[in-house]
Parts: sequence; C-alpha cells; structure tokens
Amino acid sequence: MSLVDLPLLPLGKGRDLDAERGVECPGDLPAASDPGLVERARAAKAALGERVFVLGHHYQRDEVIQFADVTGDSFKLARDAAARPAAEFIVFCGVHFMAESADILTSPAQQVVLPDLAAGCSMADMARLRQVEDAWDAMADAGIQDSVVPVTYMNSSADIKAFCGRNGGVVCTSSNADVALDWAFSQKAGGDAKILFLPDQHLGRNTAVLQMGIALDECVVWDPHQPGGGLTAEELQKARMILWKGHCSVHGRFSEDVVDELRVKHPGINILVHPECKHEVVLKADLVGSTEFIIKTIKAAEPGTVWAIGTELNLVKRLADAHPDKTIVFLDRNVCYCSTMNRIDLPHLVWALESLVAGTVVNQVTVDPETEADALVALQRMLDLPGKSHRD
Ligand code: SF4
Repeated sequence: MSLVDLPLLPLGKGRDLDAERGVECPGDLPAASDPGLVERARAAKAALGERVFVLGHHYQRDEVIQFADVTGDSFKLARDAAARPAAEFIVFCGVHFMAESADILTSPAQQVVLPDLAAGCSMADMARLRQVEDAWDAMADAGIQDSVVPVTYMNSSADIKAFCGRNGGVVCTSSNADVALDWAFSQKAGGDAKILFLPDQHLGRNTAVLQMGIALDECVVWDPHQPGGGLTAEELQKARMILWKGHCSVHGRFSEDVVDELRVKHPGINILVHPECKHEVVLKADLVGSTEFIIKTIKAAEPGTVWAIGTELNLVKRLADAHPDKTIVFLDRNVCYCSTMNRIDLPHLVWALESLVAGTVVNQVTVDPETEADALVALQRMLDLPGKSHRD
C-alpha cells in the first residue's frame, strides 16, 4: 500500500487496525436520555471503590469530569495512575494515545480502559510509523540521518515514541519542549545536530523559533504525502528543524483576524494561547504555554482583567465558570471542541464502569512489550532532562 492510499475512515464506519485508534464500540450503550445515568455512574464507581481510578483530561466534558478522581494533562494523568498501584482499573477519560501512555507507565497488574475506542487524536494519526520510517530512510539517502535526533510530542502513538527510543530520541510535552530541544541539539558532536520533530509542526516551530532562537528559514516541513517529504536533499541538509506536517485540528483553528478583532473590541485584553496554535497566532499573543500554564495564569490573574484563551472550549468554559471575577472569552468565533475527546460521554463512562462491576474489562488499551520497552526509553530520557521549563 502506498502512503497516499492510507484509509481515511468516517467515525463509526469500518476499522483500520493500523490506525492510532479503533473506531467501533463493541457494547450496548445506555441511552443518553436515561435520567439515571449520573446515579448509575456513581453507584458503579462506589461498587468498585479503590479498584478503579478515573482520570479526566482537561478537555473532557463536564458530565464526565465530575467523576474524575484527578484531572490534568496527559503526562500528569499517566504519572498519577502509576502512583496508584492499588487501582486495578485505570479508566482514562481522554484519547487513545493517552491511554497507551498510561499503560506504558503503569504496572502490568493495572488495566487501562478507554470508554470509547473511537476517541483517537487526529494529530497523533498524522504520523504513522511506516511514514516516519520512510522519512528516516530518506534522511539516510540525503546523508544526514546520523545528525538527526527524533523528538516526539507526547501527543503521538506508542510506536512513534518507541521509534524515538530506538533512534536516540526523546518525548516532550508542551511544558518542556524547549528543554527537550536543548538536550537533542547537544546529542551530536560538532554542533551539526538536526531535529526531526513529530507530529506537531506548530509546537516544534514555536519552540524552535521563539525559545531557541532558530531562524524560520532553518525550519522545513516534511509532508508525508509528498514524495521525499516534498523536500530536496539540499533543503534537508541545510535545515536544523525538520517539522512533521501534523497539527491539532482544534488549536489550528485560531486565527490572527480574531486576535485583531478582540483587541479592538476589548482594549487591554490579554491573549493567552497554547503552543499548538499557528506561529502567526502565537506571535500576536501576549502569553503562550501548556494547559497547566494557562490554568495557573488565569488563577493568578488580577480580578477585573480580560482574557481571550486559545485552547479547547471545555477547558475555557470551566475556567470562565471558576473565575467569575475575570472576563474570559474564547479565541474563536465558532464553537471549537475536540470532537474525539468529546466522544467520551456519560453513556460510555457508565457502560465501561458497569462492565467492570460485572467482571468484564471492556475497551482495554494495551501496548505490546517490545514497543513499550522502546517507548519507555524515550519517556525516561524526558524524565531525566535537566531542569524544568519556565512554563511548568
Ligand atoms: S485537542 Fe488536538 S491534540 Fe488534543 S486530542 Fe484533540 S486533536 Fe488531539
């Protein structure tokens, strides 16, 4: 199969076993209209007691977050799960790559459940192992592979993390991408290191240009759907950052126009965005940082201040509700939820919890031992990174 033939499946139809996520729900879901769903979720959770630990990503719906034992970003949640060895079942209200990371970081005795297997991540799906291996071979043909250090964002599938582990690379989060790039550049003698940054071109570009002082024209974009990534050998040889052509479908929507509009409408407004936003948007923002940074910034803001936030809408709404003394608006004209995150709803959560009570583990996410071992190498390198980013 050629790369351009990779199947694109509408949600709920068909199944691509090579994809970062599956697309079928194997069970009978309770009706979304069932007025007893909240009580059923409560009862199932109480029946499971300490045996279950429910993780809720910041971008999850309120109806699900209310049952989370802990909330956070993907890496924090995976570590929280690992710190609760008594919990046999980790119910991950998030997306597939997050459940994989939790499986990698928790003990073999803990089983990770994703209430809806169709909750994938479009960004993670933009970098497939076969595509990345083809790119790696092309870098060998261009004579640069020995200088390249692969760095992958946490938002990638386990096999991409494993690829980085096998090839001297590292995982990063949106909080420590600058520290990871620093480390990666120091891995090759002679100062000629290059970085292959996966799968989010925007986080890679924003970090390289705005935090590392790398020039925009030293960043090139590898398009897996073009022969040779759409780049000549000379362009690869000259580049310092080879950015994978991936993006987040939520953060990619924010635009410079809306920033301009809001500045006119609310003089003195503070624009706060996530580094997965486009470079042009980040350049126009006042502050940029991870979801944890965004939460801390709003918490610490003076009463009466006005903020426009460029990240997923569930989180922005919760921040606005939690801080009525500040004016908080969304940095987009339209509703902009992460559609796959939103697949985890109360019916799926109730179904997953009640199945566990009945003794059936549904939608378990497992990573094979070989992939897990290699991915752990890249994750461990991240944990060993010196210092901490200023945005933590
Ligand atoms: S918000 Fe973006 S990066 Fe996060 S899960 Fe959704 S598509 Fe993926």
